Amino acid sequence: MKDDALLREDAPDVVKGVFIKTYGCQMNVYDSARMIELLAPLGFLPVMTPNDADLVILNTCHIREKAAEKVYSELGKIHRLKMAKARRGGTMILAVGGCVAQAEGAEILDRAPFVDLVFGPQSYHRLPELVVQASRTGGATVLDTNFPAEPKFDHLPEGAKAEGVTAFLTVQEGCDKFCSFCVVPYTRGAEYSRPVDQVLTEAHHAVGAGVREITLLGQNVNAYHGEGPDGKDWGLGGLIRKLAELPGLERIRYTTSHPADVDDGLIAAHREVPQLMPFVHLPVQSGADRVLAAMNRRHTADLYRRTVDRLRSARSDLALSSDFIVGFPGESEEEFLATLDLAEEIGFAQAFSFKYSRRPGTPAASVVDEVPESVKSYRLDVLQGLLKRQQRDFNEASIGQVLPVLLEKPGRHDGQLVGRSPHFQSVHVAAPLARLGGIVSVLISGASTNSLSGSLAQADAA
Ligand code: SF4
Repeated sequence: MKDDALLREDAPDVVKGVFIKTYGCQMNVYDSARMIELLAPLGFLPVMTPNDADLVILNTCHIREKAAEKVYSELGKIHRLKMAKARRGGTMILAVGGCVAQAEGAEILDRAPFVDLVFGPQSYHRLPELVVQASRTGGATVLDTNFPAEPKFDHLPEGAKAEGVTAFLTVQEGCDKFCSFCVVPYTRGAEYSRPVDQVLTEAHHAVGAGVREITLLGQNVNAYHGEGPDGKDWGLGGLIRKLAELPGLERIRYTTSHPADVDDGLIAAHREVPQLMPFVHLPVQSGADRVLAAMNRRHTADLYRRTVDRLRSARSDLALSSDFIVGFPGESEEEFLATLDLAEEIGFAQAFSFKYSRRPGTPAASVVDEVPESVKSYRLDVLQGLLKRQQRDFNEASIGQVLPVLLEKPGRHDGQLVGRSPHFQSVHVAAPLARLGGIVSVLISGASTNSLSGSLAQADAA
């Protein structure tokens, strides 16, 4: 039995609960927020648990091994809730969206026939229509995993509803790089950049709603080449310059970038736009050229080093974060040591590192030359030891400095607020609630691997 109440003419006045469980990256967090907005006109309001929901959406991520198995296990739990609700005379629509839906659409229909709706990341602008369709099918699952001819962004409501002082804004989606370990080109499709005006409109709405920091999102964000108001393609640097003209927008960040796409326009933006924060997430994955070639990364270790040099000469206080994969098929001890050398030489303020694991459907998944699990674990331990030390050293170097901190939320303790430094360090500070949302000067007195602590500097304490 499906929910025909959705079709009632008075549906917009009927309050129904939607619960979205979001897996994976910031892009999925952004997508989930847009789904909530899209569903509001149907009378859906977000609820905190699936127990209270009339519509449950799993917004999935396919980046890790066994991602799909986790989704099937979660679906089993939600199915039990759905049956319990049916026994009480209620109904629940169960939907799977995101990258697992894109990659495994047909298999989901097979293994979890109780799912009402499966939709890919490029289809969610059609969510209201799909939900209504799912409520009408009388048991059959609605499947929409097409890559539409028209970009979904043209069909999303203008101006994402912002909550808080920081917001994500997707400017670019998909990827044409085809790194051999990555599913993104298959699940998100070809690289697409939103027009500059569309991005500005969304940023304008966000700033109007109180946002002071925007993080521009894209799977390969610095491949951005959106159409500008002059009809020409603009790069990410040009977009950032334009955004910096918005009164009230005090901080701009972007993620995730590719070393081969750091162009002169972006470097110049780092040199000349004070709102662009001096912190860049620039994945390298490996320090060995043979491994980088096998990963189809389209850059060498040397190009990575030179790119970092260009960024640092534009902005001497620029800090870096990165992604590393150890134990890629065929990685020798010497190649792993080259990764350690590169990390040691660059010095990262933060980093994410993983053991290589096969992602089904990617070219690397068919390579059999596996590095033994014990070797992968050992290499990961060694690399993480180095990266953690670098992160702690970077944080400890902040002690005694006065940093501008954007206060984002209350801390765990009474009278404490938490914010971010320009270098994206989490900072805990004793400050009155009234300062929330403001940028204050904080004298840093403590540092750990993951955060800083301090007190309001004199001018701000007044
Ligand atoms: S550049 Fe990034 S998103 Fe694109 S294929 Fe490589 S890892 Fe995936």
